Amino acid sequence: MIAMPHSNAPLPTSGPIDVEIPARELARLLRWPLDQPVTEPTAALIAEVRRWFAEHGQPWRHARLLDIHAIVGSHVALSDGTRLTSPVLAEQLRDAQADQLVVMAATAGQAIDTRTAKLWQQDRPDLAFVLDAYGSAVVEQLLRNTRDALCGWADHRGQVVLRHLSPGYQGWPLADQAQLLRLIDKDPRRADDLPIDALTSGSLSPKKSQLAVVGLTRRTDLVEQVDGAIACTRCTLRDCEFRRLPAQFAEETFASSLTTPRPEAER
Ligand code: SF4
Repeated sequence: MIAMPHSNAPLPTSGPIDVEIPARELARLLRWPLDQPVTEPTAALIAEVRRWFAEHGQPWRHARLLDIHAIVGSHVALSDGTRLTSPVLAEQLRDAQADQLVVMAATAGQAIDTRTAKLWQQDRPDLAFVLDAYGSAVVEQLLRNTRDALCGWADHRGQVVLRHLSPGYQGWPLADQAQLLRLIDKDPRRADDLPIDALTSGSLSPKKSQLAVVGLTRRTDLVEQVDGAIACTRCTLRDCEFRRLPAQFAEETFASSLTTPRPEAER
């Protein structure tokens, strides 16, 4: 691993944030055909959900930077003593000679869970369905915004952001959610109350929450040869000044690169 000095600029992302969900993103999560306009009744439901979330939503995200101490087999040991167990994460970090990683947490907040449950009780499945999709879109947007902000920050440090990975996918056990959440909880930079809990099942509460990890490397010469290792290959942010590689996805499938599907354990 190459030991090089890092800039001391703090991570650019923490705390509550406003989110703007593009209509296209919401339509995709509602499984609406992208080539057809939404009907008036659906547009009215979306407008109602937007108004409700603007007033009651509690979008929040945080990111914490950690040094990688060692990568042995499927295990990634961090400088604070945490050990993550994920074959895919270990392989990606090892191949890219990553020496740091960023743990990201995002949630749409507890109020959306409460409201959705109430709507089901009130026999309003239509509104509950749109609100549920809106919550998913919020979490995706928060993670995407966090990742995008990290890209510029990392570029100034001479680093590249790798593709994000989360527990529950690609053989990474859900059990590591608690470890990642603990890292967020113990971050000395974070002064607010942690709005996410890890349940014994491995799931998160609120439901519309997600944790993810991105590796950081200076070895652009290496990662540009490793298929899909750099986050840019799944990002179609058209005018990004920090782009390293062309996106490998058509625009229609871009959003799915940061989609929050159900973890394997919940299927
Ligand atoms: S194009 Fe690449 S550098 Fe730019 S935001 Fe997307 S992943 Fe980051």
